[in-house]
Amino acid sequence: MSFCPNCNGMNENMYTCSTCAAEMIDTGKVVDYLDNYSPYLDMSILEQVDGVQHDPTSSCIHLYYCSSCGEDYRIEVPYV
Ligand SMILES: [Zn+2]
Ligand SMILES: [Zn+2]
Repeated sequence: MSFCPNCNGMNENMYTCSTCAAEMIDTGKVVDYLDNYSPYLDMSILEQVDGVQHDPTSSCIHLYYCSSCGEDYRIEVPYV
């Protein structure tokens, strides 16, 4: 059973800001912000997050924030 390391507090991935190269902070899973998200969705249906299509059974989209320059980025975190 694969899972998202970020959602389980085991994140060892480090992502750096493409603008200033500072280390970014994971502010959470992007779909948590969507009102119409249902955890009971058929997992075979691909999630569509801001036009980025990914397979919710193999990766998770997280919103990363750079506290240095204030940019935020959506990062696809592969499950482990
Ligand atoms: Zn996640
Ligand atoms: Zn930055």
